[in-house]
Amino acid sequence: MPLRLFAATTSQGKLRDFRAAAAAFSTDLDPLPGLSAIQAPEETGATFAANATLKALYYSRFAPGLLVVADDSGLEVDALNGDPGVRSARFAADAGLTDSPDAATDNTDVWNNMVLLQRMATVPPGRRTARYRCVLVAARDGEVVNSADGTVEGTILEAPRGTGGFGYDPLFYLPNLDMTMAEIDLETKLSISHRGRALKILLANLHVDSRP
Ligand code: IMP
Repeated sequence: MPLRLFAATTSQGKLRDFRAAAAAFSTDLDPLPGLSAIQAPEETGATFAANATLKALYYSRFAPGLLVVADDSGLEVDALNGDPGVRSARFAADAGLTDSPDAATDNTDVWNNMVLLQRMATVPPGRRTARYRCVLVAARDGEVVNSADGTVEGTILEAPRGTGGFGYDPLFYLPNLDMTMAEIDLETKLSISHRGRALKILLANLHVDSRP
């Protein structure tokens, strides 16, 4: 029977990455049914693993019998002692920069990138190393079934490049490809990205675990 996974994420960027990566492994990956009606849990963990675990356990209790996958991911910048880390999604909000309540579009990524550039303003090119990290946890009925971790190394540019991807992608430069994460196509992104790598490991683990 093909493996069927349900992603507990409302991020369209993450969902797009996940679905494309899962398809490459002949695995169905769908959004968790009814996710938008479930109140998101507070991400109180100090690590990606802790937050991914709490999300997977929490959401799996709303979907009896289903294999639910949650991810926690973000950017770790060496010159910022690993920040924004688990606060990646809320980096600008933590600095007091958010959209006004009546804003027509969500500009969180723009604010986050602006704060990152500000914090990195005095960091010289040789010290702008960073990585994306992703931890995936699969859970069923309130119990962890498996987990996996993926990273991709890069550097932070001094100005954005590219229009693809999401989040910090226009600033995340991949030296080997001489492109940012926002300049590469989705297939290439999934083959090298933290999320693609973590999903590949998780699927391998789950296929092995599900053998009779
Ligand atoms: P969370 O996992 O929902 O807490 O949020 C992770 C945050 O990290 C996102 O909102 C982005 O800002 C950033 N992030 C994680 N993965 C990526 C990626 O593949 N590209 C760009 N930004 C990412």
